[in-house]
Amino acid sequence: MAPLETHDAIISGAGPVGLFLAAELALAKCSVLVLEKAEDPHSPLKRLPFGMRGLSAPTIEALYRRGLLDQLEIHRQIKNPHSNAVKGARRQAGHFAGIPFHDGDIDPSQWRYRLPSSTETSLVSEMAELEAVLARRAQALGVEIRRGLAVTGFHRTEDGVTVQARDSSFKAQWLVGCDGSRSVVRKLAGFEFAGTEPEFTGYTTRIDLVDPEKLKPGRNLTATGMYLQSQPGYVLIQDFDGGAFHGAEKPITLEHVQEVLRRVSNTDVTISALHVAATWTDRARQATSYRNGRVLLAGDAAHIHSPLGGQGLNLGLGDAMNLGWKLAATIRKQAPEGLLDSYYSERYPIGAMVLDWSRAQVAIMKLDPHARALYAIVRDLINTRDGASYFAGRVWGVSTRYELAFDHPLVGYSVPNFEFDDGARIGELMHRGQGILLDFASNASLKTVASESGGRLEYVSRNAKDRLGLSEAGPCTRTPIRPGHRPRAGTTRSSSRSSPGACSRSRSSSICHSGAVDTTRLFVAKSASPSTRRRPGLPSPTGVNTLAAPTTCGAAGPPGASGGAPTGTA
Ligand SMILES: Cc1cc2nc3c(=O)[nH]c(=O)nc-3n(C[C@H](O)[C@H](O)[C@H](O)COP(=O)(O)OP(=O)(O)OC[C@H]3O[C@@H](n4cnc5c(N)ncnc54)[C@H](O)[C@@H]3O)c2cc1C
Repeated sequence: MAPLETHDAIISGAGPVGLFLAAELALAKCSVLVLEKAEDPHSPLKRLPFGMRGLSAPTIEALYRRGLLDQLEIHRQIKNPHSNAVKGARRQAGHFAGIPFHDGDIDPSQWRYRLPSSTETSLVSEMAELEAVLARRAQALGVEIRRGLAVTGFHRTEDGVTVQARDSSFKAQWLVGCDGSRSVVRKLAGFEFAGTEPEFTGYTTRIDLVDPEKLKPGRNLTATGMYLQSQPGYVLIQDFDGGAFHGAEKPITLEHVQEVLRRVSNTDVTISALHVAATWTDRARQATSYRNGRVLLAGDAAHIHSPLGGQGLNLGLGDAMNLGWKLAATIRKQAPEGLLDSYYSERYPIGAMVLDWSRAQVAIMKLDPHARALYAIVRDLINTRDGASYFAGRVWGVSTRYELAFDHPLVGYSVPNFEFDDGARIGELMHRGQGILLDFASNASLKTVASESGGRLEYVSRNAKDRLGLSEAGPCTRTPIRPGHRPRAGTTRSSSRSSPGACSRSRSSSICHSGAVDTTRLFVAKSASPSTRRRPGLPSPTGVNTLAAPTTCGAAGPPGASGGAPTGTA
C-alpha cells in the first residue's frame, strides 16, 4: 500500500477561519492541507447583501498586519450599513439589539493607546471576497486546498491523526476543525458543546414583492419580531418561535416565508417569488475545551451564537490568529510547555463574552413587557456619552483586553500602531508573522537578544513619533509584541534564569518591545520583583517569553534575576 500523504496539519473547512489559520501556519513554514466539503466556493449567501460581514478593529488590524487589508475592495465601494444618510455627530456608528449609537456621543479619548495611525474601528466586508483573498494568500504560501472532500472521520495514532475524506486518507500531526457550526470534527472528537437553546428562527431571503412599499427599509422591531430590509427584496426576519422552524429542518417554501413575513411585519405584503432562503437561530453554544489531544477547534466549530451585532467571524479570526503561531511553534518544536494550551485559556473567555453579548441582545428584543422595558432603558443609556462609548468599545472590539497579570495599562491590549520618524508603522513590519523586538533606545544588548533567537525575533530600533510615554526613564518596561493578533488575556512570567537574551542584559531605562508575532497585543512587563508572577493555572505562554524575560530594570530586580516575561495575546 502506498504511504499516506502526510502534512504537519490538516484543517477541516475552507471558510474564513480555516483559510486564515492555514495561512498563518504556512507563514511559519508548516505544511498544511485544507479539506473542504463544498465543491464550489461560490454561493449567493456569500455575496452581497447576504454575505455582508461587519469587521471590527481586531480583525481589521489582523488583516492590516498581514498585508491583506489593501486587497479588500468591497468596503471602498459600498456604504457601511450603520452609516445612515446623516453625517457628522448623528452618524450611526453601530448598534446593540438594533438600537443605534452615534459618532458624536462616543468619547474616543478613553482608548488612550489607540494612535491616530490606527486602522479603522469597523468596516464592511463580503464573505465571498474575504474568502477569495484568504484562499489566494494561503495558496501563495503553499497551502493545498482540496474542495469537494468532506472530512468524514479520523483516528488518532501515536504521533498524529489519520483523517478520512470520502475514499481518501491523509496523515498529519494535528487536525483542526474549522468546519463551522455543525462541525464533524467537534462531534467525532467528543467535545462537549454547552450552552443555551434558541429563542427565534432567523430567515435570510431574497424575494420579489408585489407590493414592496408595504415594508419599511432598514431594521424594524415590531410587536411580533423584527425584519430588516437592506435593499428592496433582500429581507431578514426574526421570528420568536423558539427556533422551532429551523430545528424542524422543513423545506423553506414561499408560503411559509410569506406567512412569517406578514405576521412579523404586521402587513398583508405579498411575495411573488422566493429566490434564496436560509434559516439560522440564536442558539448559543461553546465547546468546553478547544483541544482534545491532537485535535483542535476554531471558529464556528468552537462556538455559535446569533449573528446579532455580527461578531462570529471576528471571533473566529481571532481564534485563528491566536492559534496559528502557537501551533506552528509546537509543530516546529519551539514551543515551551503549555503554549498550545494557552490558546484555550486565552480565547475561551473572549468567546464566552461574545456569546453573552449576543444573548443580552436577544433578551431585550423579545416580545414580552419585561424585555420591552429593558429595551427602553438601554436605548436611553446608549444615547449618553458614557453609554455610547461603552457600546462602541464592545462592538468595535477596541476595549477587548486579555486579563494579564501585569499592572501596566497597556498589557493585554493590541499594540499601538506606532509611527516611526520615516512614516513607517509598526503594523507594516508584521507581515512575516515573527516576533518583533522594538527598541526605542538603540540598546545593543537587545539586538543581541534578537540575534540569538534563531530568527524568531526581529530587532527593530527606531524612534516613534509618539511613544505614548513608554520611553520615560524609570523602571524598565518591556513590551513584547506577539505574532498573533487579537487581544486577550494571560500574562505570565518566565522564571528561567538562563533565558537567552533576558533583559538582565538590557539597560534599565530602555524599552523593549519584543514581538513574538501574534498579530498584536502588546505586553508590557514592568520588572518589579524577581519573583515569578505566573497566574495560577495558566501555562507559561509564548515561546518568546523567555526572550523578553525581565529583570533588573530600574528599581526592581537585581541584575540577572528573572522577572516577568510578558506574553501576548492574539
Ligand atoms: C446572516 C448572518 C450574518 C452574519 N454577520 C456577521 C457579521 O457581520 N460579522 C461577523 O463577524 N460574523 C457574522 N456572521 C457569522 C459568520 O458568518 C461566521 O461566524 C463565520 O462565517 C464563521 O467562519 P468559519 O470559518 O468558522 O465557519 P464557516 O464560514 O461556516 O466555514 C466552515 C467551512 O467548513 C466546511 N465544512 C463543513 N463541514 C465540513 C467537513 N465535514 N469537511 C470539510 N469541510 C467542511 C463548510 O463547507 C465551510 O466552507 C453572520 C452569520 C450569519 C448567518
